[in-house]
This record gives sequence, C-alpha cells and structure tokens, in this order.
Amino acid sequence: MPFTHAVFDLDETLYPTEVGLMQDVGRRITEWLQRHLGLEATEASRIRELYVRLYGTTLGGLLAEHSDRVDVEDYLAFVHDVPVEDYLRPDPALRAMLETIPLRRVVFTNSTSEHALRVLNALGIADLFERIVDIRALNFIHKPRLEAYQRLLTLLGARGPACILVDDRPVNLQPAKRLGMTTILLNGPSQDGVDFTVGSILEVGPLVRQLLRRDGLGTTAE
Ligand SMILES: [Mg+2]
Repeated sequence: MPFTHAVFDLDETLYPTEVGLMQDVGRRITEWLQRHLGLEATEASRIRELYVRLYGTTLGGLLAEHSDRVDVEDYLAFVHDVPVEDYLRPDPALRAMLETIPLRRVVFTNSTSEHALRVLNALGIADLFERIVDIRALNFIHKPRLEAYQRLLTLLGARGPACILVDDRPVNLQPAKRLGMTTILLNGPSQDGVDFTVGSILEVGPLVRQLLRRDGLGTTAE
C-alpha cells in the first residue's frame, strides 16, 4: 500500500531530550500531584514514575485511579505552563528534512494542541504539519493505548499500512505496528514493534524517501 501520512510524536522526537523542556514539564507534573493529591515531593515523584510505567502517562494513571479528583484541563494547563521558547530555537536543518518528506505530515501527541503549536512555532516548523492530533482529539485516550492509534487513523481517514510513525519511545510504536503502520524509533535499540531505528531525527527524511522508493512511488526530492 502506498504511504500517505508521516506521523510524528512531538516531545523529545522533534527536538532532543537534552534541551530539558520535558524535565521542566516533569517538575510541573510532580508539583501538580503534590498540590492536588497532598503528597510530599518524593512520594509525588514515585507516583509519577509508577503511573508512567503502569498506564503510559501520569494523566492516564490519574484518570484510572483518581478520576473524581482530577480536573483534566487544569492539569494539562498547569503541566504545560513552561517557557517553551527558552528551550527551543528555530531549527533550519529539521525544517529542511521535513520538507523532503512528500507525505501528509501530522503530529500525534499526548499533550495539548496549544503546547504542540507552541513547540512547532518555536522550532519554526508549524506550517509543515497539516494536523495536530492531541490528547483532546484522542478523547483523553493516550498513547500507548491501542484505541488512541485507532482514533488517529479514523481522524486521518487512513489505514495503518499507509502511515509511518516516528516516536522516541518503543512502547509507543508497538500498538502502531499491530495496526500495520511502519514504525521508526528515535534513539533506541531495535526491539519488537520497531521496524527501523535512527540516531537523529534528521535521518528520518532519507529513510522515508528510501521507503517510498521501495514502495515504487519514487520522489523528486533527492
Ligand atoms: Mg516523545
């Protein structure tokens, strides 16, 4: 099946972990847990790690275990209230790479569209994406739950084999693979559910063009 969509995770995929943005978000998550669940800092950190391990995200754990005490919109606004523009700068090399991918480009994120747009704008690449599928569009059913990927495909009007997914977490690629997507892992050892690994986001462009050639579509972007 010909590829139609290149789907990208946002955080720590379109920019490197080392910039520290998600560590800041992590601190905000711990602070929110302290305030709303009445926890000490160390216990809040422990709960955060536990929820990520058990549910994939802290919010997933909160919705599963404390849905009566969680104002989801308050949580999302609080944890993403970080100075994104202090961490990220326009990235011309990333932009040039994305421009060589002759597919519909989509962001697929467990964060909000506001946060995603802020990140994309700071990187100078917002105009290169036709759509952001965020946590609200997913009805708060987040990656790596299979339903999130099914919802993504419904929203895109696409079938799994027509999509390429890029993410920095192997656990987020496995459900995609089950639905027939081609999966690319950023910065990690290959494992079940991972078709390809790349050491840098900039390697995704050449890899996708290689896949398109294999698919018999060719590209004029070489
Ligand atoms: Mg990520």
